[in-house]
Amino acid sequence: MKRTVLISGAGISGPALGYWLHRAGWAVTVVERADALRAGGYPIDIRGTAVEVVRRMGILRQLREAHTGTRRYTFLNSDGGVVASLNGPSPGRSPEGHDLEVRRGDLAAELYSITRDDVEFLFNDSIDTVDQTGGGVDVTFRSGRRRTFDVAVGADGMHSQTREAWFGPEERFHRYLGYGFAIFTMPNTLGLSRELMMWNTPGKAAALYAVGETDELHAFLNFHWPKPPFAEVRGPGARRDLVARVFAGASWEVPRMVGAMRDAADVFCDTAAQIRMPRWTGGRVALVGDAAYAPSFLTGQGSSLALVGAYVLGRSLATHGNHTAAFAAYEQDLREYVAVNQALVDSGRARLFPATAQALELRNSMLRGLDHMPSATARPAHSALRL
Ligand SMILES: Cc1cc2nc3c(=O)[nH]c(=O)nc-3n(C[C@H](O)[C@H](O)[C@H](O)COP(=O)(O)OP(=O)(O)OC[C@H]3O[C@@H](n4cnc5c(N)ncnc54)[C@H](O)[C@@H]3O)c2cc1C
Repeated sequence: MKRTVLISGAGISGPALGYWLHRAGWAVTVVERADALRAGGYPIDIRGTAVEVVRRMGILRQLREAHTGTRRYTFLNSDGGVVASLNGPSPGRSPEGHDLEVRRGDLAAELYSITRDDVEFLFNDSIDTVDQTGGGVDVTFRSGRRRTFDVAVGADGMHSQTREAWFGPEERFHRYLGYGFAIFTMPNTLGLSRELMMWNTPGKAAALYAVGETDELHAFLNFHWPKPPFAEVRGPGARRDLVARVFAGASWEVPRMVGAMRDAADVFCDTAAQIRMPRWTGGRVALVGDAAYAPSFLTGQGSSLALVGAYVLGRSLATHGNHTAAFAAYEQDLREYVAVNQALVDSGRARLFPATAQALELRNSMLRGLDHMPSATARPAHSALRL
């Protein structure tokens, strides 16, 4: 009899885990709250060890074709004057030389395309309750259907409901990193192409990113805030108002960005935070990806952790005859890699989003001395794990 798994979430880590478990002979079901996969989206990085994972999945060529190939990074001061204008990272100079940047939706679509024929996807549904008192995981879905699986895995992102239900409230595991942000799309009236422009004052950043040749820009407003800014601000309108107040009086394109945020249908406001848990598994359930160890966008490592975490969990379940031994191996093999990647947050934060005038000047003088964008991130993040 095939072993069975239910995975909650069809983002990055869910389908990636589904791929490895199907290959190992499991019957895989993925339940996704949304009606369908979301296309496009903001750019994400696939770096180091994660590049090897996507190579082993057979999608490296497709992802190279989807590589955004950003050609120019322009950094602006508070008046909108140019501080530095850098070419994209030089592949020849990076230690790995092969890191990728793709739209999140392109990666999700590749993962879906290699699993859709072999994995059962249940869209527009989610887990309502689980009961582990029998010899498996008895699941009731929101739609009312009931099924039993050998194990269940939460791959439902930073604000995971499976984590909440199985391990406790988010506050227990949430580490606030000092920033709030809003992202949304707006028309590319500036005619930007394959480039990022970032405006900074101490503690505030506004970025416009033209991912490829596109008539749409990804807009990003990020601000330093001592306490989680949206904790007591409920509702999308109030959150937009808060962001608009923070950026009132700013120069460059910021007033237009704030106006576009008010009209945008896809505004996403959140805080920069990490998820840190002492254990990612318990009984017959486990967490993977952002649900278990979100490192925050400040590290640029979220997708890499999701891909590598899914690989290690898949390998552990495939090679151990029972879930207890498999989960122990997953915790042991991945822990250091997660810790090293989450620790990158301090250097990443200092580099892109300085909160003080002094830190901003330090960053700017570093940028003025460069002609290429430095490639990604500190390398220990990629050597803490052997695949
Ligand atoms: C603004 C921003 C910028 C980022 N920039 C980068 C970057 O530059 N580089 C990088 O590597 N990473 C970046 N990330 C992080 C990256 O997107 C995540 O780390 C990565 O997508 C994690 O994958 P995941 O599969 O674990 O979770 P997700 O991609 O969040 O997928 C979770 C899935 O679960 C579904 N879901 C949620 N709740 C339920 C439920 N109750 N039942 C069923 N399904 C559910 C969701 O609809 C979604 O499909 C960024 C994230 C944000 C928000």
